[in-house]
Amino acid sequence: MQGCLTLGRYAGIKVSVHWTFLILPLWIAAAGYYRGYTPDTVLWNLLLIFTVFGCVTLHEFGHALTAKKFKFKTKDIILLPIGGVARMEMIPENPRQEFLVAIAGPAVNFVIAAVLYTITGIFDQKPVITTGLVPSQENFLYLLALVNLFIGAFNLIPAFPMDGGRILRALLAYKLSRTTATKIASHIGQLIAVLFIFTGFLYNLFLIVIGVFIFLGARSEWFVEHSRFILRDYKVSDILMHQFHQLGLEQTLEEAAAYILNSSARNFLIMENNKVVGTLSRSELTSALSVMESSTPVQDIMNQEFLILDPDMPLTEIYNIRKQPLNAETVMPVIQNDRLLGVLDIENISEFIKIRHAVLKKENHLVSG
Ligand SMILES: [Zn+2]
Repeated sequence: MQGCLTLGRYAGIKVSVHWTFLILPLWIAAAGYYRGYTPDTVLWNLLLIFTVFGCVTLHEFGHALTAKKFKFKTKDIILLPIGGVARMEMIPENPRQEFLVAIAGPAVNFVIAAVLYTITGIFDQKPVITTGLVPSQENFLYLLALVNLFIGAFNLIPAFPMDGGRILRALLAYKLSRTTATKIASHIGQLIAVLFIFTGFLYNLFLIVIGVFIFLGARSEWFVEHSRFILRDYKVSDILMHQFHQLGLEQTLEEAAAYILNSSARNFLIMENNKVVGTLSRSELTSALSVMESSTPVQDIMNQEFLILDPDMPLTEIYNIRKQPLNAETVMPVIQNDRLLGVLDIENISEFIKIRHAVLKKENHLVSG
């Protein structure tokens, strides 16, 4: 992800922090100043936030290392101000594996909380009632234990994108198909989201933000699963585009722009000796034109880390490959035995999904009507 700083690596998994994370310490320092906290209290607050994010990292490692046991790779763990994300290349579809991978994260927080409670018991560090929720040397470990309990419990809410959503889906998938399980889990998630929003209007506006976040998460999970369901019987060769636009390495941005204006081209394959060496999308071209000379050759800006597809590859696998973020601009050449057969882009796939969705809807309607 762009704008990330790598902190380190463990078990082949990179841990990085997104620049927006800086908002947190700045916000704490500003809030401390505004509320007239002593520098000591501000420091304890900062220490608490950094330690909590250490625990969030361990939570993500809980997911990643359990996934590793089942041979699922995690590309990296990214820390954002709202929490952490372990970006897995593939998500286990076996209910038992998905259940264990999902529950491992909250389990880490509960273990941390239990250990901290034991320690605070030994040091009798429980004056949280007298000192309130403002962190200090006296209640630090106790507060850290409380926060871990909260993180564990919050993640168990049975709604996507929380771990609880995946746990619920995995449990339902023991008896139902994955698609039906996702549909039910997504509906339950949306219901919970509406409850959050409703309660938020009555008590705390922050709950509305969480509600909207859950609502969108539930919907997008259903969308991905539904797309997977629609695509499951098709291969890359079924929808690849045989018409595509090629450019030579030395051709300029200006020439590429002229192609876009004169034709239906929305992206290009960059060729050298009849081999694909790069791809170029419309938005990559326009953003380059805004900062570079129009006489710049396309080889200076082309994307060299493109994905090559095999015509026999099932379409659902494209969704499983998470090595690179897929977006509407992603262009993928389809090659077999060194022969270029065509290209596939995400826009193409989503159009196919829309068409199949409409056809399925009509068929269902005819059956039920
Ligand atoms: Zn988690």
